[in-house]
Amino acid sequence: MTTVLIMTDGMRPDALPLTHTPHLDGLLARSAYTMAGCSVMPSVTLPCHTSIFHSVPPQRHGIVTNTWQPMARPLPGLVDQAHAAGRRCHFYHNWEPLRDLNRPESLEFVYYRRNCYTPDGDNVIAAAAAEMIAAQRPDFAFVYLGTIDVAGHAFGWMSDPYLRQIERVDGAIGALLAVLTPEDTVLLHSDHGGHERTHGTDALEDMTIPWMIAGPTIRAGHVIQAPVSLLDTAPTLARVMAVPVHPHWEGRCVDEVFAA
Ligand SMILES: [Zn+2]
Repeated sequence: MTTVLIMTDGMRPDALPLTHTPHLDGLLARSAYTMAGCSVMPSVTLPCHTSIFHSVPPQRHGIVTNTWQPMARPLPGLVDQAHAAGRRCHFYHNWEPLRDLNRPESLEFVYYRRNCYTPDGDNVIAAAAAEMIAAQRPDFAFVYLGTIDVAGHAFGWMSDPYLRQIERVDGAIGALLAVLTPEDTVLLHSDHGGHERTHGTDALEDMTIPWMIAGPTIRAGHVIQAPVSLLDTAPTLARVMAVPVHPHWEGRCVDEVFAA
């Protein structure tokens, strides 16, 4: 059983009805989901990802910009907890500051290419991830797709090129989903949204994210009623993988997504 976390950087939930995204639509149809998930402040990629993996807000971990620095008061993240429990974890990404999200030696495999600035970069990342996941069947894989955010900065959030980039990334998501089995669980969400050509504020356009999870233990077609934040990703995936949550994590498992 493989658990995959797919990150679509900067993808706004209100973009989805405006795009042709058959693979995202298919995933959504078998997911428990919300289109009103909440990012953290500042709604910036590295602070967000540190919160996603460590389940504490930026004021707790201390990373408030995209320039890497050590956490103010370090604590183990999801991958560190999974590794300690004997799980094999993979990272696939195209934005290098994410390289230090986990403690040294927690990962079995990393694939990085500096290609989030080219339109088909995510497709290259997803193809590599699909091939390796199919061959190795890790317990956990993080697949970070950075091109939607880049299109937002270049052309504006909700602009036509931004929406077309979501459609391109839908193909990357399809390639990844194609190698998964009914035993596997997928959580897909964004780290933040955006407005005009930026993000980082507490405006709803920046803070609101789609969050959808599908798998053999997950309720299909369930609209999540409780508030969901980035801090809830690690505790929820810890339950999926039967990995202990860390006592300092502040998020909560989204229990209602699990079938009785
Ligand atoms: Zn950005």
